[in-house]
Amino acid sequence: MCGIIGYTGYEQAEKKITTGLEILEYRGYDSVGACLLKNGKHEITKVKGRINDLKARLSLGENEQAFTGIGHTRWATHGSPSDENAHPHKVGRVTLVHNGIIENYESIKAGLIKEGITFFSDTDSEVACALINKYYNESTHPCVAILKALREIRGSYAFAIMFEGYEGEIFALRYSSPLLVAKDKNGSYLASDITAFLPFTKEYATIHEGEIAHLTKDEIKIYSHDGTFEPQWQTTNLDYASAKKGGYEHFMLKEIYEQPDVVNECVLKRVKDFLPDFSYDKIDSEIFEGIKNIHIVACGSAMHAGMLGARLIEELSGVSASAFIASEYRYSPPLFHSPTLVIAISQSGETMDTLSALRYAKGSGCKILAIVNTHSSSIAREADKAIYTEAGPEIAVATTKGYISQLAILYLIACYLGLIRGRVNSIQCQEYIKDILDASNDMKKALERTSELRAFAEKIKDSEHLYYIGRGIDYSLCMEASLKLKEISYIHSEAYPAGELKHGTISLIENNTPVFAICTDERLYDKTKSNIKEVKARGANTFILCFSGAREPQKSAEHVFVLNGRSKISRLLNGVLTCQIIAYETARLRGCEIDRPRNLAKSVTVE
Ligand code: GLU
Repeated sequence: MCGIIGYTGYEQAEKKITTGLEILEYRGYDSVGACLLKNGKHEITKVKGRINDLKARLSLGENEQAFTGIGHTRWATHGSPSDENAHPHKVGRVTLVHNGIIENYESIKAGLIKEGITFFSDTDSEVACALINKYYNESTHPCVAILKALREIRGSYAFAIMFEGYEGEIFALRYSSPLLVAKDKNGSYLASDITAFLPFTKEYATIHEGEIAHLTKDEIKIYSHDGTFEPQWQTTNLDYASAKKGGYEHFMLKEIYEQPDVVNECVLKRVKDFLPDFSYDKIDSEIFEGIKNIHIVACGSAMHAGMLGARLIEELSGVSASAFIASEYRYSPPLFHSPTLVIAISQSGETMDTLSALRYAKGSGCKILAIVNTHSSSIAREADKAIYTEAGPEIAVATTKGYISQLAILYLIACYLGLIRGRVNSIQCQEYIKDILDASNDMKKALERTSELRAFAEKIKDSEHLYYIGRGIDYSLCMEASLKLKEISYIHSEAYPAGELKHGTISLIENNTPVFAICTDERLYDKTKSNIKEVKARGANTFILCFSGAREPQKSAEHVFVLNGRSKISRLLNGVLTCQIIAYETARLRGCEIDRPRNLAKSVTVE
């Protein structure tokens, strides 16, 4: 959840850490803190607030130098956002930052209190720190203290730890939370996210579960029960410029504008002669062979992409497909009567709820295909096969290009399955592929129409409640449209199957309540039109987003937006884009902090 950065080397650690934290801030921004090694002492500065508050307090005095340090940006799970609960935590001679949750921290804490330890925060992280310190003494190596503490700890963690007595060294380890190391000629780095290294170096390696990384100024060693070895270095092709705003007012807007290219690239990498081909991902038909069922497990927007994907898969391939909320998957255990392929979708590849659902399905004998944006992420590693959306770093907390890239991949899977199962022939399939490539151009044109949507935003910006209604596949689209608006504008919004509204929720429609109907599917147009008329008759301020050629939409809703795109997939993708822009413009007019909405974090690595 939170962001972690660490550095030890020949340059000022303060600069490295604040630069990394600025990049990581999207992962959590309840508080921020750093520990710098100064004159052999761990000096901690931490504050409830933003990175600029930390920077103001961190400045090194004249003649002061620090070449080793760790930093943290927090998304609180245990204890309110406050100065005391901010990381790093120091107990005795041990200082650490932590990402994750120590599930049994209460019992460990009770035991340590009995032994005379005083705690200054409400966090589970300080308890882990105290436990490691308990096992660390003059004659113990840090790794021994860590291993002893780990025997008692249950939960998820990525730790970066500094030990007094081991100057200029950092120890790091992880379980179910991401952590990477990197190096350049100036020193050694660690971070929870590859983007934090990008201003410095492209050479990185993953720390695997069960390993301890030991960083010194000149080298990084990995310890595991198989022995001591070098990290497996890789070079990332991400670049720092692509993680910056590039002239846009917000990262979210930049990412919205990148979507046509993201869709295009996603598809072009995976077609040959206009037919779907996953050899780019080293995937052939084997993973799909004998499959009778597809379960898509995901959370939030990825789950909404899964809902749309399930409909596309059923329609194009005839394979039964359903999307599940990952955090619920284990509690209403699906019966795996017939061979089931589970598709786990997660932008970060670290979403804990999705990872747990994946593990459950794997334990039940299902094959697992991951769709993730981040290479070497936990979900990608634990799946049988992984497809990387490669949409580039997504910095805005509310996903846009990540979501659309997932949709593009699901569409390709639907086409591929349709083809290998003989449900569509290659000529039809080529048409479908051309449709999605055209969609990318249609989206580019749609981006020139943002002023029309800004006018919609003006009309809804002061509303407290809003409804999105649609049928079939459009209902799945409404789910994402509604979530996007809630996330960034804080307007309460609900998505409803258009026909279901009259069975209860219509009682909430009052004079001027905004209701958006989405209709991309011409088969459903007449019925959805009737539903929007029903709410209009009760005073709602009605909007319709419909396909070109829809009969007289202005007769059913006050405000009409005709979506770009002729093919079904193009209308869908343009529907997504349109709703993202409505949400963005509304949030902007309301003066919301668009890239970092309150209470949210980008990568949710806790259950
Ligand atoms: N559980 C820890 C806390 O609440 C770490 C949270 C995080 O991952 O940011 O402080």
